[in-house]
Amino acid sequence: MSLEDRAALLGQHPATVWLTGLSGAGKSTLAFALEHYLTGKGHACFVLDGDNVRHGLNRDLGFSAEHRTENIRRIAEVARLMNDAGLVVLSAFISPYRADRELARQIIGEDRFIEVYVATPMVICEQRDVKGLYQRARSGEIADFTGISAPYEPPENPMAIIDTSLATVDVASAQLAQIFMPRLRF
Ligand code: ADP
Repeated sequence: MSLEDRAALLGQHPATVWLTGLSGAGKSTLAFALEHYLTGKGHACFVLDGDNVRHGLNRDLGFSAEHRTENIRRIAEVARLMNDAGLVVLSAFISPYRADRELARQIIGEDRFIEVYVATPMVICEQRDVKGLYQRARSGEIADFTGISAPYEPPENPMAIIDTSLATVDVASAQLAQIFMPRLRF
């Protein structure tokens, strides 16, 4: 079955929405809100995030620069397969290194890779401290923590930038969807 046949079957041109940003920026929350929004518009989607990838496919990987690169490479390969299968992928990973995101762009394909920078300020992410990770990183219990003891390289030319401290989840996801939904229409 050709990619075009699959696009016709599912009524969409697949793409990967690549959400990047600090821990606690709102990537996973936005990915699931986007899934809900897009599903409501008839799009078949799938969320890739730490919970379904880090604990399975990539459970042998840690957080060194090398392992982060391999983590992103595998995620990009999975996203590409899912796109080939016709699905819209919403991926929610810190993906702190520009070079790793460029590799993901190459693997997934320039025309299918939609980079979104979830640019919530670090002070807000740390206040949220959803999983208590910032506190543990500050105390030295966690090494190589993005924003504290490991770098974050912001995208230079993302398709969209969203600061989740300025909009509710529903508003933020609807705003984002408006930006890239035309790209998905069959
Ligand atoms: P990440 O996946 O980037 O690590 P999460 O989505 O796990 O971040 O956590 C973000 C936290 O911020 C959640 O507790 C979420 O409820 C909260 N939050 C508050 N406002 C927003 C918003 N507008 N968009 C996304 N998340 C928000």
